[in-house]
Amino acid sequence: MRLRIDIVTLFPEAIRPYVDAALLGRAQKKGLVFIKIHNLRSFSQDRYRTVDDYPFGGGPGMVLKPEPLVRAVRFISEYTQSIPLVIVTSPQGELFTQHMAWELAQEKHLVILCGRYQGIDERVITLTNAREISIGDYVLSGGELPALVITEAVVRLIPGALGDEESLRYDSFSEYPFGPPQYTRPRVFCGLAVPEILLSGDHARIEKWRREKALEKARRMRPDLFLNSRCEKKEGVV
Ligand code: SAM
Repeated sequence: MRLRIDIVTLFPEAIRPYVDAALLGRAQKKGLVFIKIHNLRSFSQDRYRTVDDYPFGGGPGMVLKPEPLVRAVRFISEYTQSIPLVIVTSPQGELFTQHMAWELAQEKHLVILCGRYQGIDERVITLTNAREISIGDYVLSGGELPALVITEAVVRLIPGALGDEESLRYDSFSEYPFGPPQYTRPRVFCGLAVPEILLSGDHARIEKWRREKALEKARRMRPDLFLNSRCEKKEGVV
């Protein structure tokens, strides 16, 4: 097993179908990754299985209590005899990027904690030495989608997870900020023809064209990326 991922959530049923399907399902069957989903409620020790409470200082909503979350991390760590990298999903975390996905893909064991309501008690981050990660500057109702986003972005980088490893080269945020524009059959669709060069069979020219088109689009859509990207230097643009 190359990687183990434990996801702690109040809504296992929202996560399970996705991790058992498509790429994540195949990667598990191939034995590349083991994904275990835990119900946060099972780490609560009171008779009502309480996991949330009112925020100190007042304010609306509820906060996830620290005990069940910390207990979950300790249990997983003891059970697996490993020191996992703990991730707390949060809109206030470091922005998740492809570069971070590559970093996380080097780990052996990740534990992802899904928040809900007003978020989790801040002490959990300190006590579990967690890395707080955001999937973007917007607010979702829970950490389940962020956990799935992180899981899929990381697992597809494990050698053997993709049908064709070569396709990683053509991904955006990889060799170049964007992947190239792609076309498939039919050659003409609704009056729009596939660029002639792609039908030429001249691989060197196709590669050059693809690179140029990808850079052109990146400049237009994401100048922020383009300024910092390595390809700018490679292309001698800056
Ligand atoms: N009160 C929090 C704030 O303003 O920062 C937002 C809490 S949000 C409604 C509930 C949970 O959803 C969070 O604890 C986190 O786990 C998850 N979440 C929401 N947006 C997220 C994002 N952009 N990235 C990662 N996790 C997010």
